[in-house]
Amino acid sequence: MIRVRNNEGSKMGKYLTDKYLKTVSAPPSSHKELGQTMGIETQGQKLPEFKAHWTPILKPYTMQAEPHIHDFDQYLCFFGSNPEDIIDLHGITELSLGADKAHMEKHIITKATTVFIPAGLYHCPLAYTKVDKPFMFLNMFFAREYIIKK
Ligand SMILES: [Zn+2]
Repeated sequence: MIRVRNNEGSKMGKYLTDKYLKTVSAPPSSHKELGQTMGIETQGQKLPEFKAHWTPILKPYTMQAEPHIHDFDQYLCFFGSNPEDIIDLHGITELSLGADKAHMEKHIITKATTVFIPAGLYHCPLAYTKVDKPFMFLNMFFAREYIIKK
């Protein structure tokens, strides 16, 4: 049985819930290089603060130009959109990391990759320099709000 957010008269529909993890969608992006962002975020008291947003990368684009830090841990994930080869990005992502802004190290990402960014680690620029096929960017972080510190 297929149900779309219709829990009435169902025993199992209670599991299609936003009670703890809420599904959110941003309006269509004003940047033609990006697709519409979808995400999940915790609500209520049962789970630690957590948010995840995924955005299709459609064309070359600099998502964040300036190195910065956060007070929270973060994961940045990149993966392909071809269901038969999700590993190959069919594009190039450039991400810089560093202990301080004066010593940033640029990484070139062409395969599915997860980057752990502990609180206090400088990161960015984040740029998609080549996009042969759309691929996905997933941003996960452990905080209620995405607050950037320069
Ligand atoms: Zn950041």
